[in-house]
Amino acid sequence: VTPSQIADVARRLAQAERAVALTGAGVSTDSGIPDFRSAQSGLWEEHDPMRVASLEGFRADPFAFYGFWGARFRGLSDKAPNPTHELVARLEAMGRLRAVITQNIDGLHREAGSRFVHEVHGTYTRARCLRCGIVYPLDLIVERVEAGQPPFCDSCGDLVKPDVVLFGEPLPPIFERSAALVREADLLLVLGTSLEVHPVAGLVPLARETGAEVIIVNRDESAYDHLATHLVRAELTPFSIELLRLLAH
Ligand SMILES: [Zn+2]
Repeated sequence: VTPSQIADVARRLAQAERAVALTGAGVSTDSGIPDFRSAQSGLWEEHDPMRVASLEGFRADPFAFYGFWGARFRGLSDKAPNPTHELVARLEAMGRLRAVITQNIDGLHREAGSRFVHEVHGTYTRARCLRCGIVYPLDLIVERVEAGQPPFCDSCGDLVKPDVVLFGEPLPPIFERSAALVREADLLLVLGTSLEVHPVAGLVPLARETGAEVIIVNRDESAYDHLATHLVRAELTPFSIELLRLLAH
């Protein structure tokens, strides 16, 4: 990636009036968080995703589900934001970004200071009753399960599930608001996602259909590189450090 490419991205962001960011696992890998959904994580060679990562599997055996995810979710709590999370927060603070739509469940955009965060795949910090919707801290439910108690709702007795979107589950209502923001956007800044997971990936063709520029910054190829008005193949951390430096001037 060349300095002139990064300067070009900075210029486009400065000219945009309704820019929105879309982020994926590649933004958090430099914070030491594995991409759970990716085949490269090796997770799904050893474990059946339908058993430990689908709603059906959760209902069938919530103990196995919490046994699998409990420690993995806990491992996220000591992770810190990296320069790409800082870049997104800075752009919002400068008034150059209306919101960030993220597929990540790790909460690092909020921790970095972003205020308008659409967590369209949920968050690992909460759990929610499948029937009445009451929200619990996930820690509390994991502690109960580890003590041998079933993850039942105190209010209605149904199962309490981590508030993350499992395979085969619909996205939370905030996704509709994300799509509305993208329809209004004049620029979509896509960071660190291979754009293979739908329906989130569909926000990129939607942005083009409604006339927005699409900047894709990713280390690897993405499924919608051909739709990018501006494609930057780069490691995210050095890219973000350089863009932050330009924005400071
Ligand atoms: Zn309930």
